[in-house]
Amino acid sequence: MNIAENIRKYREMVPANVEIVAVSKFHPVSAIMETYEAGQRSFGESRVQEFLEKEKMMPSDIKWHFIGHLQTNKVKPIIGKTSLIESVDSIRLLELIERESAKAGVVTSILLQVHVAAEEEKFGFFPDELKEYLKEGSFRNLKNVNICGIMGMATNTEDGNRVRADFAALHSIYQEVKDMYGSELPKFRHLSMGMSGDWPIAVEEGADIVRIGSAIFGDRI
Ligand SMILES: *Cc1c(COP(=O)(O)O)cnc(C)c1O
Repeated sequence: MNIAENIRKYREMVPANVEIVAVSKFHPVSAIMETYEAGQRSFGESRVQEFLEKEKMMPSDIKWHFIGHLQTNKVKPIIGKTSLIESVDSIRLLELIERESAKAGVVTSILLQVHVAAEEEKFGFFPDELKEYLKEGSFRNLKNVNICGIMGMATNTEDGNRVRADFAALHSIYQEVKDMYGSELPKFRHLSMGMSGDWPIAVEEGADIVRIGSAIFGDRI
């Protein structure tokens, strides 16, 4: 598999206004470097230890997106090293990122992960839970976190209608939050959805960030 060729192909297929995050989890630095040399700068990792090791070895102009479930005891080491933490799935995690970012003197950009898929093992705020949190208003106290948008996943199914409905639901939550709180959340403008198997539908439904792993790097070991 020619990884550099794959990334070039994706650059052509994916509309120019949509950011491709190359999901490099489980793949070695050598594979990441092949796409880096082909011009790719945004990468996605899902495990803290693996991310930190790669981050140390790779060029500093990479934009690292953290996309995996983040345990609260693993927040501190990644603060200041990410371009975007896409997988903020609880209020507790959000507030911890705020505190650790304040201590480190940085502002951390995040997406709120929303759960619309059928699988119970997936993470994220349920839509009502997120709306409840925003209504309650304490997000206005966040000084060291920029809420930049919504991330989500569709149900893992062959049923394209279900996938489309999930992405449409994510878009509708994104739009609702933007309409209600956009003036207070000036960075709120990203909708990250779509992976190797379903990104074209996600783009049709309004994604401006897609996270593509196996279609670029091959199967994960
Ligand atoms: C692994 C992963 C991806 C990429 O999945 P592929 O099917 O390999 O493209 C995207 N998003 C998240 C949150 C992931 O964990």
